[in-house]
Amino acid sequence: MSAETLINNRIVLASRPEGAPVAANFRLENEPVAEPGPGQVLLRTLWLSLDPYMRGRMSDTPSYAPPVKIGETLVGGTISQVVASNHDGFASGELVLGFSGWQKYAVSDGTGLTKLPTDMLHPSWALGVLGMPGFTAWHGLLKIGEPKAGETVVVAAASGPVGATVGQIAKIRGARVIGIAGGEKKCRHVIDELGFDACLDHRSADFAAQLQSACPNGIDVYFENVGGTVFDAVLPLLNDHARIPVCGIIAHYNDDYALQPGPDRLPYFVSLILRKRFRVQGFIISDHYAEEHADFVREMGEWVRTRQVKYFEDIVDGLENAPDAFIGLLKGSNNGKLVVRVANH
Ligand code: NDP
Repeated sequence: MSAETLINNRIVLASRPEGAPVAANFRLENEPVAEPGPGQVLLRTLWLSLDPYMRGRMSDTPSYAPPVKIGETLVGGTISQVVASNHDGFASGELVLGFSGWQKYAVSDGTGLTKLPTDMLHPSWALGVLGMPGFTAWHGLLKIGEPKAGETVVVAAASGPVGATVGQIAKIRGARVIGIAGGEKKCRHVIDELGFDACLDHRSADFAAQLQSACPNGIDVYFENVGGTVFDAVLPLLNDHARIPVCGIIAHYNDDYALQPGPDRLPYFVSLILRKRFRVQGFIISDHYAEEHADFVREMGEWVRTRQVKYFEDIVDGLENAPDAFIGLLKGSNNGKLVVRVANH
């Protein structure tokens, strides 16, 4: 293969967003593809995962991971094909799960690459239900939420890869599952395709009253994906000893995290934690790969194979369309796991 003839398209962070990201925060750049050196492989991106955490990387605020610098390629999980290899562990044609980011080609020394079976029916699922979001749902629900048969579990962003998987695992464990999603179409999908007991539209004017009616026995597990008005509606319904895995607060990702003026809800929340003995635990899934990932792969692989857990993707074609798709993700435009098909296999 002659890398000289290849051009890499990549999307870099052009500027940091103020509030919600806009197209001007992204820039498409073209450059010659680098030749892989000794011990390196050249990867061609087939699939790029778009995930809410990327919003955090666009801001220069303290977090669990460093921000993307201005002018750098945006980060992201990828499925790639090895197109040239000077690495003993990888052969041309193999598929790998990696972290090439928002670009068509990447050179790697093999660090962080996981081989996928070349005959895998849906390689992109390794970015979703069989990958990071699925593991997030599995860990957060089973290790922190610990749902029991007959309990009520509530999860928002219910049609997305984390929420959809949380709800389906909770059903397997015998819980009653209430999903929350944006709009009638998503709610129908969550009930009809994913098998939740109910799904409510968080944009409805009487959403809090609907949630109360849907949870006559209160809420035992609230899997926190969104924060905002959903959290406000959930809080008074939580039972004694409720468990709250804090996975994400997407309603606030465009906020300035400085203390905002307004009513101080902290004493109310903390008094509930105390009086009702809640367990509130945040987690970052990258902390749990070493100890738990093998168990997740085994259990989730079986659930997906037997269709006890169903999985839906929202596929966008072309790297150049990634910024718009990502901007839409933060507003709820996606229905299912958002992935970009960068190249055909
Ligand atoms: P999704 O694909 O479900 O996309 C996010 C969804 O959030 C949107 O589709 C939208 O759905 C919903 N949403 C956006 N704004 C609001 C709002 N103001 N109120 C209510 N819902 C809103 O995302 P994922 O499944 O990939 O991720 C879900 C959550 O899990 C995110 O918070 C993410 O950051 C977190 N996460 C955390 C990890 C960790 O390690 N802690 C790892 C992976 C994910 P709708 O239209 O239905 O409202």
